[in-house]
Amino acid sequence: MERILPFTEEHMMFRQAFGRFLDQEIVPHFEQWEEDGIVPREIFKKFGDHGYLCTWAEEEYGGANADFLYSVIAVEETVARGLTALFTFLHSDIVAPYLASYATPEQKKRWLPKCVSGESILAIAMTEPEAGSDLQAMRTRAEKVGSEYVLNGSKTFISCGINADLVVVAAKTDPNAQPSYKSVSLFVVERGTPGFERGRAIKKIGLHAQDTAELFFDNCRIPQENLLGEEGMGFIYLMEKLQQERLIAALGGIVTAEACLKLTIDYVKERKLFGRPLSKFQNTQFELAKIASAAQAGRCFVDQLILAHMAGHNIVQEVSMAKYWCCELGHRAADRCLQLFGGYGYCKEYPISRHFVDSRISTIFAGASEVMLSLVARNLGL
Ligand SMILES: Cc1cc2nc3c(=O)[nH]c(=O)nc-3n(C[C@H](O)[C@H](O)[C@H](O)COP(=O)(O)OP(=O)(O)OC[C@H]3O[C@@H](n4cnc5c(N)ncnc54)[C@H](O)[C@@H]3O)c2cc1C
Repeated sequence: MERILPFTEEHMMFRQAFGRFLDQEIVPHFEQWEEDGIVPREIFKKFGDHGYLCTWAEEEYGGANADFLYSVIAVEETVARGLTALFTFLHSDIVAPYLASYATPEQKKRWLPKCVSGESILAIAMTEPEAGSDLQAMRTRAEKVGSEYVLNGSKTFISCGINADLVVVAAKTDPNAQPSYKSVSLFVVERGTPGFERGRAIKKIGLHAQDTAELFFDNCRIPQENLLGEEGMGFIYLMEKLQQERLIAALGGIVTAEACLKLTIDYVKERKLFGRPLSKFQNTQFELAKIASAAQAGRCFVDQLILAHMAGHNIVQEVSMAKYWCCELGHRAADRCLQLFGGYGYCKEYPISRHFVDSRISTIFAGASEVMLSLVARNLGL
């Protein structure tokens, strides 16, 4: 079925060129980076050199002023190849938009060009050991002292935490603020700031090439010029930007389901057991037909949401539904497809295994499925 998104000739050319770039420059090295637990910093520069980072950024910052469909294409091509752990979309489409929306013109001039070129790698630090789903429980403090803020606290599970040059950090500036959502502000902490340390890269069951780290702030003094937006507006900014983050997560879920389906259809046609192809067993057909039906339904929903998002609509409720449903689907599809690969699916050599481990986190980060369902229920008046 033709997609409803208005892809132009230019979008198609971008898709082809970006896919070729991934096949030539990334795929051959990716297994090594999975072993290393990190993507080399130069890769971000390589993405930047080709104009593949922050494509939406204004031309004065080195961007192409491109529409959101270019970001969609980049996510699709990356996830479809099992390269999710690159996390370049976290840099381009999840963190950099905070700078674009809330930074002053001076801050933008300072930071954005290097984000577009890949010289600066971005991360966002919200989660703490005692504050994940319940972000209000965060303890990291930022106290104003003269013309500086002094940060104390720690963050955990920060994607690209080792590679990051600029980290958007959420910290409490006024823990007793009323209403309580006004307690948090956002800061940009730069690599090398005294008192800012990175902990170990956390060993995970998937997304191996993505450097997930703990961050520590010990009397870390940052100039007041590194406050992002207004003091006390941190939660509001996080909520504003979560729509795009969760939409990208939902898109990732659908692409994962589609990719697993494709890999599995090819495999079951080749694999023979009990004297016939695995594809001829009714169980195989029903399993794959169910995934195909769900992926098609999810694709229509997500494409519709992409259009609404591009039109600037507030679709928080629908995006919460999509984040929950599509990410659950992505991982379920990877699980059911891996089953059809038998023991081979459990081997790293088969790409289905990477989809299985990489998709597991999708129902937990960017808002766990249960958090999404709570939001949906609240909007239903429950
Ligand atoms: C690989 C990876 C990358 C990450 N990247 C980042 C990053 O870049 N920046 C960042 O700030 N954070 C990041 N995170 C953190 C991630 O967002 C949190 O793990 C997530 O928000 C869940 O928080 P938690 O792990 O503390 O789980 P908890 O909050 O302890 O939740 C545990 C479980 O409780 C259940 N639950 C939660 N809320 C509810 C509810 N309201 N009702 C019922 N049940 C509920 C869910 O099943 C949930 O999985 C990352 C995590 C991982 C593993």
